[in-house]
Parts: sequence; structure tokens; C-alpha cells
Amino acid sequence: MQSEFTMPKVELHLHLEGAAPPALIQQMAHEKKVDIKGIFDQNGHYVFRDFTHFLAVYEAATSVLTQPLDFYRLTRAVLEQSASHGVIYTEAFLSPDFCGQAELGPWREYLSAIQEAAADAEKSFGIVMKGIVTCIRHFGPQKAKKASLCAAETAGDFICGFGMGGAETFGVQSDYLYGFDMAREAGLRITTHAGEWGGPESVRQAVFDLNAERLGHGVQVAEDPHLVDELIARDITLEVCPGSNVALKIYPDIRSHPIAKLRDRGVKVTVSTDDPPFFHTDMTKEYAALSHAFGWGKEDFSSLNKTAIKAAFCDTATKDTIIKRLDAE
Ligand SMILES: [Zn+2]
Repeated sequence: MQSEFTMPKVELHLHLEGAAPPALIQQMAHEKKVDIKGIFDQNGHYVFRDFTHFLAVYEAATSVLTQPLDFYRLTRAVLEQSASHGVIYTEAFLSPDFCGQAELGPWREYLSAIQEAAADAEKSFGIVMKGIVTCIRHFGPQKAKKASLCAAETAGDFICGFGMGGAETFGVQSDYLYGFDMAREAGLRITTHAGEWGGPESVRQAVFDLNAERLGHGVQVAEDPHLVDELIARDITLEVCPGSNVALKIYPDIRSHPIAKLRDRGVKVTVSTDDPPFFHTDMTKEYAALSHAFGWGKEDFSSLNKTAIKAAFCDTATKDTIIKRLDAE
């Protein structure tokens, strides 16, 4: 029998580069003779002081990913890691800015390598991956337009969504509306990071200005009960990453995290790892921490996974297959 920790899981919020195993990044740096030793501690873990420094370390780590083959290796390694924690379906954020400077020609080559790795990983580890193209907020609206063009041009079975990550306090959500509209017109579903750092105001902008269907994090909405009602009325799902929020000191510990309170109020919440090796987490640890803090058991996690697959951006056939696999356990 599966325990709540080994049970099959659905993850909706994972940055592909942010999930890069440190050993793989170190290996690539060694192969390319790039010196990024400063981003690791003596134990080989990523090390950073705060969120701004985290973004800098993140970008330094991605600097060794310079060709499609690197993304093949990265994708395969990340999916093997996720599958080892029971993840059977994952939606990964892919950033064209890190794949050939968000130029469409190179992006297609990088994407093709990522898709090939995803297909191989599905055969080897049974995990299904879909991609959400993300623009990076602190790179500004012009670069975001290029990322959304990459998204729109490659929208389809694999690329099923568009979103925005990066520094949430940079500008306002609607500065990026052009890119979101372009992606939406191409048939892509919409999510954006909101309410991780920007408080309820950022959530309000994501909901009313961008009309997002899901929110990356979204947890600071808990400070505004009326907005919580709005999320429930609009059936918006939150991609909650408790371990990430605690690691970045948004909340002092899991017990202080609003995920349980939001769930009990009727908000649709799901659980993801965000950038797992940076935050010393994985899906097994997330489930264990939630179980310990709130007494959640198998039933709770099972319903959480159902919520997640219902809010997934993939096609119905893929959803049905994943639901069957969740039900079979
Ligand atoms: Zn994120």
C-alpha cells in the first residue's frame, strides 16, 4: 500500500532550470571550464542570502546551459528526480530567455531537445511533462514580448501555458499584458507569479488585469478576505510552494504558512516545489512537512492531487490518463 509520501503526485509549479541538480550544473561548469564555484557551499549545495541574491545565483547556474544538448541532459535529470518522489505529471516552466536569448529560431531547437528528453523520461520513468513558457519579470516588458512570441509560435500539445516568473516587485502585472494577450490568442492558458512577494495587490492585478486562471504562489491573498472570496468565485487554483516560501523567509515555518487556512476556506490549493535543490526540498519532503504541521493524511493529499490535475493546462486525454493512474493507487 502507498503511504501519503510515496503516493503518485501531480506538480504544477516547477522551474526547469531551478530544479537543476547542483551536481549536473557543476559537471557542466567543469566541462565548459566556467568558474561558478561561488554559488555553491562546501557540500555542493546552492547558496544565497536572500531573494535578490537567489535570482543572481539562479542566473549564474543557468549560464552553463548554453546549447540544446545541455537542456536535454537537464530535463532528463530533473524528470528522473521528480519521478523518484512519485510525481507522475509535471508542468515545468521553460524560459526562452535562457534558451538562445528568446530568439525564435534557437528556441525551437532548445524546445525540441527538451521535448525529446521529456519523451525519453516518460518511457524510462513513467512521468508525463508539459511545458509552460515563462517570461522573466525583471527582464522587462520588451523581453517578455519576445518570450511570448516564442510561446505563441510553439503552442500545442506540449507547450500548453504561458506565465511570468522573476522579481514580482518589478513593475506591475499589466506592464506585461501585451505578451499575455498574445499567448492567450495562441490558445495558451495563463498563470503568473503573484502574492509571493507583492502582497494582495499583486494578486488583484493578476486576477483583474491579466485574468489569470492560476496563480504562482498566491498565498499572500490570505491577508485580504474579499479577494479570497473572489478567487473562490472565479475558481482560481493556487500553485502553492510551502517549502520555497519558508526557505525565502516569507513565513517563519510551515505551521505559519496559510495553505491550510486557504484550503479550509475553499480556495483551490495544490503543492509544488518551485526550485527544489535551491530550497533543499522535494515533493516527499513537502508532503511530510504538511502532514506534520497540519495532520494531513492520504485523503487530503489525494484530493489535492485531483485539484491539481483538474487545474492542469494539458489536453483532456492526458488528464484522463493521469486521473486513472491517481485512482489506481
Ligand atoms: Zn516559481
